[in-house]
This record gives sequence, structure tokens and C-alpha cells, in this order.
Amino acid sequence: MNPVPPTPLTAPRRICAAAATLPLQLVVLTQDLWPDPPAHPIQIVTRLRCALESHESGPHFDLVRELDDSDGCEVWAQWKTGREPSTIALLRDCPANNGTPGGADEACVLFAGHPGGHSYEFTDPEYDAIRDGGTRGP
Ligand SMILES: [Zn+2]
Ligand SMILES: [Zn+2]
Repeated sequence: MNPVPPTPLTAPRRICAAAATLPLQLVVLTQDLWPDPPAHPIQIVTRLRCALESHESGPHFDLVRELDDSDGCEVWAQWKTGREPSTIALLRDCPANNGTPGGADEACVLFAGHPGGHSYEFTDPEYDAIRDGGTRGP
């Protein structure tokens, strides 16, 4: 009789994905924060989804605007569970890369000093569904 393999104690690591909407005043602030070149409103993400690894405490973060020519900085919004985002900040890109050889390496898409794992260390079921050709839910 074969012994039952032990069940892993750790749950699969996954994205937080807490949702929020960027309020209009922060959309305006995001445009003003880096006015050159001016951001078209369509370039600003207003339906936010926390990009950090699933976490119990602390604020949520999502990228609201990717900047050209910004020396590796992007605009991020920050919010607390159940609240509207109240802060945006210019944060430097996380320098981490998983270093997989053969061009299969993956850079972390988060900001430098972020809490939790790097983006390539946990999964985003919604992203995986899109990548695998599945249909996206509402
Ligand atoms: Zn979060
Ligand atoms: Zn990282």
C-alpha cells in the first residue's frame, strides 16, 4: 500500500486583484503629474485591480499610467479595501527578473520595494485565461 503523498501546506500564490475605480480628481492629477507629453484620458487606467500578490493587510496598488521617457518610473494608485483610491505616486519599476535563460525570462511588472512576491512568482488567473485563449468573464 502506497503512502498518501503529503498535501502541500501552502496554497498556490496568486494575485490580490482587489477592484477599485480611479476617481475623476485622480485622473486629472495623473495627467498633471507628468504633463509632457500630455496623457490622453484613454491612456489612464480607471478600472483598477490590485497587482500585488494576495495580501492580508496594507494598501492595494495598481498601475494607472505608463510613462514614456520617464527613466523607469510609472504612475501608481494606492487605496485601502472598501475605499476609493486617494493617492497616486510616481514609483520606480521593480528591477527584478526571474533570469530564465533562452529569452524566456520575465521581468517583474510591479514597482521597486513592493510588498509580496514579484509578479512572476504568483499567478493571475484572469491573465492566464486570456493567454490560454479562454474567454474573459464580465
Ligand atoms: Zn491588494
Ligand atoms: Zn518585483
